[in-house]
Amino acid sequence: MLKSATLHNRCPHRRHLDIRRLTNQRSLLERIEQRLTPYWPARPVRFNRSPLVSFTFDDFCHSAWSTGAPILDAAGFRGTYYAASTFAPNNLADTTPFGTVDGIRYYDLDDLVELHRSDHEIGCHTAGHRRVSRLSSAELTDSLDTNARFLHEVLGERLRLDSFAYPQGFANARTKRLCAARFQSCRGTLAGINSGWFDLAQLKAVALNERFAIADLQRYLDQLSRRGGWLILFGHEVEPEPSKWGCTPKLLSAVVDAVARSGFEVDTVGRVAASFRA
Ligand SMILES: [Zn+2]
Repeated sequence: MLKSATLHNRCPHRRHLDIRRLTNQRSLLERIEQRLTPYWPARPVRFNRSPLVSFTFDDFCHSAWSTGAPILDAAGFRGTYYAASTFAPNNLADTTPFGTVDGIRYYDLDDLVELHRSDHEIGCHTAGHRRVSRLSSAELTDSLDTNARFLHEVLGERLRLDSFAYPQGFANARTKRLCAARFQSCRGTLAGINSGWFDLAQLKAVALNERFAIADLQRYLDQLSRRGGWLILFGHEVEPEPSKWGCTPKLLSAVVDAVARSGFEVDTVGRVAASFRA
């Protein structure tokens, strides 16, 4: 607070406005870039198998594990949890056992250990959870290395991280190429089904939050039946009163039930992506 007040006092009013305009422009450019990047696939593959569904959770909120995983387990499903070291309790200097930011409780280190021992998958979500398009290539590489080192330290072994999710879903051509060279798959947040020719370096995914309705899911499942493809759902926390990014246990249970009734295969992003490798 003190820092921003000092900065504001030093800045002439006009310059302050210009900075804000610049930030807005960058955001607009990022959105344009976000829309254009899919037209330059970094790892194109052809969908050539029976329809599939994957459940993923970004940021690795505590409830996605403590409440979400048992719901998946009950149906025999396994999910992918994209972890970022910035949300670890130690990194947040928090006195509670869980990293907590803006009221959302992230994972405890024991959650990470349990997840590692399970058949669910740990994916990478960078260390700092910043939009990768705002990082230089060296900064992005450092962030990926830092996250891998953090997981190694907590879990006591070097993990093979196959799956990556872009923080906030944003990617550009440069960072997509960099991530594609390092991970088997990279997931964004552009909505849709991965079918026909699709890009393993920018997988489409559908947000699983309280604005998502079972009717929406049914439309996607119908589309899978008609045209085939891979539907990836992504959620955050699973709580009775979630943030706008999360969903309730009730909604997740209903989605899991509907997917189970569809009879489509469900697996982690890592195992599904591996089946498309040449
Ligand atoms: Zn995230």
